[in-house]
Amino acid sequence: MVSTKSATIQSINPATREVIGELPVMGETQVQSAIAQAWKTFEDWQLLSYNDRAKKILNLRRVIAKNADSIAELISKEVGKPLSESYAAELNGPLDTCVWLSDNADRLLSDQMIMLSNPLLSTKQNLIAFEPLGVIGVIAPWNYPFSIPMMTIAMAVMVGNTVVLKPSEKSSLIGIRIGELFEEAGFPQGVVSVVTGDRNTGKLLSESKLSKVIFTGSFEGGCKVMQQAANNVTPVSLELGGKDAAIVLPCAPVNWTAKALAWGAFTNAGQACASIERVYIIKGKHTEKLIAEIVKETQKLKLGPYTDPKSDIGPVIDAHQLDKIVRQVEDARESGATILTGGRKVDELPGFFYEPTVITGVKHSMAIMKEETFGPVMPIMVVDTEDEAVELANDSEFGLCASVWGKNLKRAENIARDLQVGTVTINDCLFTHAAPQLPWGGLKKSGFGRSHSKFGLMDLVNIKHINIDAPGVAKIWWYPYGTNRMKTLRGGIQMFHGTFGKKISGFFAFLANIAKNPKGS
Ligand code: NAD
Repeated sequence: MVSTKSATIQSINPATREVIGELPVMGETQVQSAIAQAWKTFEDWQLLSYNDRAKKILNLRRVIAKNADSIAELISKEVGKPLSESYAAELNGPLDTCVWLSDNADRLLSDQMIMLSNPLLSTKQNLIAFEPLGVIGVIAPWNYPFSIPMMTIAMAVMVGNTVVLKPSEKSSLIGIRIGELFEEAGFPQGVVSVVTGDRNTGKLLSESKLSKVIFTGSFEGGCKVMQQAANNVTPVSLELGGKDAAIVLPCAPVNWTAKALAWGAFTNAGQACASIERVYIIKGKHTEKLIAEIVKETQKLKLGPYTDPKSDIGPVIDAHQLDKIVRQVEDARESGATILTGGRKVDELPGFFYEPTVITGVKHSMAIMKEETFGPVMPIMVVDTEDEAVELANDSEFGLCASVWGKNLKRAENIARDLQVGTVTINDCLFTHAAPQLPWGGLKKSGFGRSHSKFGLMDLVNIKHINIDAPGVAKIWWYPYGTNRMKTLRGGIQMFHGTFGKKISGFFAFLANIAKNPKGS
């Protein structure tokens, strides 16, 4: 919530609606000062060896592990998720990223020699060097307020960049904590700076002199950031929303799949870009039983604050998010869908709670099947064929992740290849973001660019080509031109690429003309 009078943002515990912190909305002066410091620090930071930076990254790992309990508690308090989710989904990824980076960054980013196939270029040496870009702006969301920025920042600084982080206005305390952890780990001042504030602070950051902006958030925010960065031609990477489909084959084991789908749809109160937002069950003899099991699993889940260790589902982030879920579910209900369980906000609890909800009888024209819901809602469609399931899954403006469920792994893999998304998981979902070795990113309105993995590292560096030639010999394609030079080059084309007969004639034309006038004319 932004209080304009005092230009502060309030951090609110969504389970209780209590204000737990108040932070400044940073303006132009503070944003520019953080960026200037980041550029200054970059001058030295980029010169450190991978080994030196890896030592700091491993310090960061130690500091995160040492403070794991207080970090998990802060995450759960500020964004509402059960503590189990804070440990599993917020801490694992960053810790594993530190290990992977320290073991692999040097190897993945060491110089590469490139051999050229054209014989005329065979004396050249070509190498690719990977250099840090400079200062990276990281604009982060609230739904995974620790793991998303932490993994991105760790990768960015490991390759020699410095970072200015703008955390979400709904999770600023965690943003501040991220800055402190880097400090505690011994990173020099300015390697990671945090600017708190709302979208205006994000706007100031993305309009500034940066080497790259990495934005994770809504489609609308991503479009704005792209426009704002365009004036400086600052490259952007956009990680946006999802409407992830789960396709269930008739061979999927009923009880196990019901449990899995319930977790995939309701973890983080459904507020994950990669949570299951649409289920397509391919009709089989167990379809009715599977739906009944999903309902049973859903009804077992307990809503509540993180302070109750028995809570399975926390609140959604705020009243706005709650209203969006209510609107989509009511629209589905009024348009003829059946709410099998859930379907109401929970007024008995003080926070922003919505019951885990299972809906059938939905149509693809409904908002619940088209818009991102970001709530604990699982709409299910029963379809007749695999082709229909794939067609419906691909009938979305988004293309982030999808999952396929069943015992027939070959059939599941074939479906995976037909899905228009960045990630498909077979018999699991959602975990891949936490594995730093795996690429992360989407298609369509889910954004572009890949983070994590060796591909994500490539997005954080200048891929510089250096060609090395010894001086002395004039190249055949340099001046002066002339008839003989033209014939030499024409002969060369046939000699290397023509049919067998042309190769022979090309060879002689090449030699004859080069011999006639090696210096051209
Ligand atoms: P949001 O777009 O409202 O805000 C995200 C961040 O961008 C915040 O820090 C916000 O202050 C900032 N921001 C918003 N508008 C801006 C602007 N015009 N200029 C600069 N900064 C701006 O998104 P949110 O509600 O925080 O996050 C939820 C969304 O994020 C969902 O759509 C979700 O699917 C998506 N998400 C995507 C991924 C992914 O990896 N693809 C991961 C997590 C969340």
